[in-house]
Amino acid sequence: SKVLKVKLDFLLSKMRQVGMTQEATYDYILTSDYAMLLADELGYNPIVDDEAAFDIHAPPPHPNPSSLPPRPPIVTIMGHVDHGKTTLLDTLRSASVAKGEAGGITQHIGAFSVPVSQNANSVTGSQTITFLDTPGHAAFSAMRARGADVTDIVVLVVAADDGIMPQTREVINLLKREGSHVSLVVAINKVDKPGADVESVKRALMVEGIQLEEFGGDIPSVEVSGLTGHGLPELVETLSAVAEMQDLRAEQDGPVFGHILESNFNKGIGPVATVLVQRGCLKVGARVISGLSQGKVRLMMDSNGKSVKVAIPGMAVTVSGWKTLPKAGDEILEGSEADIKKALANRVTMAEKEALHEDVEAINSSRKLDRDARAAAAAAEAESRHLARDNALTEPETGPKELKLIIKADVSGSSEALEGALDSIGNSIAISKVMSTGVGDITESDVMMAKVANAIIVGFSVSAPRIVQNLAAQNGVQIFTSNIIYRLVEDIRERVISMLPKII
Ligand code: GDP
Repeated sequence: SKVLKVKLDFLLSKMRQVGMTQEATYDYILTSDYAMLLADELGYNPIVDDEAAFDIHAPPPHPNPSSLPPRPPIVTIMGHVDHGKTTLLDTLRSASVAKGEAGGITQHIGAFSVPVSQNANSVTGSQTITFLDTPGHAAFSAMRARGADVTDIVVLVVAADDGIMPQTREVINLLKREGSHVSLVVAINKVDKPGADVESVKRALMVEGIQLEEFGGDIPSVEVSGLTGHGLPELVETLSAVAEMQDLRAEQDGPVFGHILESNFNKGIGPVATVLVQRGCLKVGARVISGLSQGKVRLMMDSNGKSVKVAIPGMAVTVSGWKTLPKAGDEILEGSEADIKKALANRVTMAEKEALHEDVEAINSSRKLDRDARAAAAAAEAESRHLARDNALTEPETGPKELKLIIKADVSGSSEALEGALDSIGNSIAISKVMSTGVGDITESDVMMAKVANAIIVGFSVSAPRIVQNLAAQNGVQIFTSNIIYRLVEDIRERVISMLPKII
């Protein structure tokens, strides 16, 4: 009311006038749509501040990926507990340190890279393989849930003395779900053990639908011992060959895009995060943003504890220089100081809004509970009054009269909200019932569905094209649209009430 230069009471009455009866309290937090509507009502010309909504995003995919330099494959080792994942990773890691520069100390940073043998007849592929060593980490499920799994190849470890176990099956099912962009390599482990039965493991894998190469399929398998190191060069070569088929490439110029694998607070240095670089080169001095954290890259170290000045795609490095601790699983992006400042302001606002929204939802739902309780009491009273009349009805009732609704809304969030608000308004005599919800403008098929179901169509922030309106009129289907949920709620409530028998 201050900004609009009107008295609070006037604003509240205006709100009620335009249908915001529920919102017309001094502490209700308005959405930008409602705020715009009110400003408009009061003769202002509201402009949404797009600048305030600035954010940094990953650069679009390269138009000609085959021209880009190759990048190392990102490999995740998965399998049943105790089948030897940790041992395998440890042996691979220490072998890589031995092969690499002397004096390196193996550090657990969430990922490490292994050089591909010079003998491998790879001319186009990458010279290293990056292994992720915390696949069970919550960050990985978070990334996967967002469809941002960073893995190119999964190594499924199966112990030759134990065979297929529940978590082996979980991995197989996960891979079937993830589709084709992740390749699978099977490592039959612990072949040094006396009880090892490689052939029966292979047969069992076939039964699970894993088509191994030697049986005419396309999934390679390697017999290894994580303990003795037997078969590990073959495993690395197989991974390199699979990666070459995948033709993995990434731009080394342009802004950095990657993911945070791990993060922790280091007493001497402050917040430190392991960054997996996926596109672009991360350099000391770069300005970066990840979630609500920002930083200027101060010191970068690889998994051998060696300080590096540049991290190329496929490389994982620890990065210090963060103002706050970034979250594992979040994206990291590079930008100018000014852009990061704007992006951060926007993200903080969004995060605050989200938190506020949750609060408001909680308050509203408790208010709704209150209202529902009162409504239920009123309904019970009404019901008892109607009882006499109902008993006299000659036709036996088979349940409450239903007002059937088909909901359409602009976004799925609002269609869900609307479904929650509009479903089951009423009592045991007359009640609203949502038949379906959908996103987008009202269509001819919505009208036909409404006709068949004897339902009415309720639209929130969507429109009904003229042709659809005509079809609805011809078929006697009613359409209600509004940009204010509360109006729709009131409307449906009125209709349900009108379905109640008149009190004699
Ligand atoms: P994880 O739970 O899959 O990470 O399995 P671990 O790497 O912790 O291994 C479980 C047990 O199996 C440990 O006692 C390892 O020493 C043992 N183990 C792992 N790999 C091998 C192997 O190749 N041969 C033998 N004989 N034992 C192994």
